[in-house]
Amino acid sequence: MSTLRFKALAELPFKSYRKDNFVDVPAKLSELYCQNVFSEETMREYLTKEAFTSILDAIRKGTKIQRHIADQVAVAMKDWALSKGVTHYTHWFQPLTGSTAEKHDSFFTPIGGGRAIERFSGALLIQQEPDASSFPNGGIRNTFEARGYTAWDPTSPAFIMGTTLCIPSIFISYTGETLDYKTPLLRALNAVDEAATDVMKSYFDKNVSKVSPTLGWEQEYFLVDTALYQSRPDLVLTGKTLLGHAPAKGQQLDDHYFGSIPTRVMNFMKELEIECMKLGIPVTTRHNEVAPNQFELAPMFEEANVAVDHNSLLMDVMARVAHKHHFHILFHEKPFAGVNGSGKHNNWSLGTDTGENLLSPGKNPKKNLQFLTFFVNTLKAVHDYADLLRASIASASNDHRLGANEAPPAIISAFIGSQLFGVLEELEKVTDGKLSPEEKTELKLNVVGKIPEILLDNTDRNRTSPFAFTGNKFEIRAVGSSANCAEPMTVMNVIVAKQLKVFKAEVDALIETKGLKKDEAIFNVLREYIKQSKNIMFEGDGYSDDWAKEAKKRGLNNLKTTPEALKKELDKKFVDLYAELGIYSHREFEARNEIKLEKYSTVIDIEARVLADIARNHIIPAALNYQNRLIENVKGLKEIFGDKEFKALAKEQLSLIADISQNVSVIKLGVDELLAAKEKAKNTTGSQKQAEEYCNKVKPLFDNIRAGADALEMMVDDELWPLTKYREMLFTR
Ligand code: ADP
Ligand code: MG
Repeated sequence: MSTLRFKALAELPFKSYRKDNFVDVPAKLSELYCQNVFSEETMREYLTKEAFTSILDAIRKGTKIQRHIADQVAVAMKDWALSKGVTHYTHWFQPLTGSTAEKHDSFFTPIGGGRAIERFSGALLIQQEPDASSFPNGGIRNTFEARGYTAWDPTSPAFIMGTTLCIPSIFISYTGETLDYKTPLLRALNAVDEAATDVMKSYFDKNVSKVSPTLGWEQEYFLVDTALYQSRPDLVLTGKTLLGHAPAKGQQLDDHYFGSIPTRVMNFMKELEIECMKLGIPVTTRHNEVAPNQFELAPMFEEANVAVDHNSLLMDVMARVAHKHHFHILFHEKPFAGVNGSGKHNNWSLGTDTGENLLSPGKNPKKNLQFLTFFVNTLKAVHDYADLLRASIASASNDHRLGANEAPPAIISAFIGSQLFGVLEELEKVTDGKLSPEEKTELKLNVVGKIPEILLDNTDRNRTSPFAFTGNKFEIRAVGSSANCAEPMTVMNVIVAKQLKVFKAEVDALIETKGLKKDEAIFNVLREYIKQSKNIMFEGDGYSDDWAKEAKKRGLNNLKTTPEALKKELDKKFVDLYAELGIYSHREFEARNEIKLEKYSTVIDIEARVLADIARNHIIPAALNYQNRLIENVKGLKEIFGDKEFKALAKEQLSLIADISQNVSVIKLGVDELLAAKEKAKNTTGSQKQAEEYCNKVKPLFDNIRAGADALEMMVDDELWPLTKYREMLFTR
């Protein structure tokens, strides 16, 4: 009997120590909220009035924090943390590896004479030097000068994990290049704040002094029993199964989606929610997803920077809490073939410091024109920079999901609902130049004025679009479940910032040169934007082949693979955009592009090696083992029945023996070919070329090997099959 799989299966929950870990949830979760966060409430308690005001100004207005204030904040943070049993602090940051990083330092400081105190200063709060030579940097930092530093981001609150005070930080090199996800995001948020505030102040509401993008993410994931997870080398090493025959029952019945949440999962979820509450992550919904053992969790939306941090933090916490319940959590976009993969919808909008959602229509025509302004400008931005948005969600793992009839295709289009589409078509007819009083009245009453009613009953929800308007926000649906939301959020906010700047300039020009009134000028500019962006608006089935054809006719790109998307990313237009808005220098952006390409190649390289190993070390031996049993059986039959009779009796066995040989040979040849192709790809120079080589020459070779192995799985005696099967991983709860 093959060991690992059966040992793992023997570990399943009916063993007493693995019984459900029951979790009691306090009647009022709200009482736990922000218990472990250095929140506004806590700051008010621990800080002097001067320091408190100064921090709030930094959060709300982006003002600098003085050194003596930082010292006060550090002491307050330390006192608060010590009161909660904390011993260490760390700058918590998000390097381009895709996970979070921390380096813990103790508050403990010896002061001589055998005495020691707990100490923390403003200098340590503001800046820390992690030994960061091995974080990816795309060649920006030579390893010999591998020095980067982390710097406190006061706009995201510090929090406690275990016995460590975590201080959200940015990560930059000594020469000023960004090495993380957060720094560009903060710059993008600033850019859109500036541009949107300018538009608001000039045309709609003088009282607005800050516009903050909001983000509400929805996180999908799979849970697999830890023992079963450990028994699958592919899951452990690549985060996904590289082979495995689909179970007879998958998601056909939709019974998981509508079913109740299994007890062990429920306990995991409860504990997770308690942890989230304490960390100030406002999770509100949880449910089963489409595939067996797939689930989703979503919080209330928050200001984008905090929401991005919270998503990274959450992924960390989820993994830890899952372990306590003997689950391993899978964030991979496509851990199992044949059932749905996981995504992370990013719901995005813009909110003002006066409490308005700019993508929500209001009570009067002016508010609705304001809505239309931000709505149309967003569509125009997505139209103009569709490829950049596509590139921001590109990864080897997300490639498996996009366009696989369960997630949007790689074509960027926007769904706005037929009624809003109708409104835009009306606006396309607006007169060029000055508008007559009749036209103004008509627009006010029958076009713009109708928007709130339209949205009230806009139940139209197209789930196949990568970019959908859902009543008061846009939902970016193509983001992968394992991604850091910062990247798509950076792009989204940068492109809208740029678009709003252009819009402002164009409207002002019409007012000045043509003497148009403000509203007339806005209508005139929006009219042109609608015409120019119309080809990305699509209301039909995004999963259909017809759409791919139609999109091609419309001239939209369908960048199916990561290397294709990343190649487009370096378009001069995009590089210039980043430079213009001060997000990245050319060099920095190229470095980032290179990191992503290298990551892509590395992922495929690892998958190829793991697949080759499993095929040679697990699958072929198991197949031959079973084949030998069959041969023994056939020999025995021959011995008992003699030459003539045995042929009829052993017919099926003989054909099975031949089939096994056939598949073993497919696998063996496939692996040889794969390893040769992989070697060639590895030796290709230039990151773009190399990624293309892995994508086009290596990856396609996985399929035959897998087909051979999955066919064998159906032939070989279950008792001899070494790899834990899909039905075991997907239906053990
Ligand atoms: P679904 O997409 O599952 O139908 P909802 O439309 O209710 O669900 O909301 C999905 C997500 O949208 C929620 O996580 C919520 O936080 C987020 N959301 C709601 N309003 C906003 C907003 N103004 N900005 C950003 N996200 C928002
Ligand atoms: Mg959604």
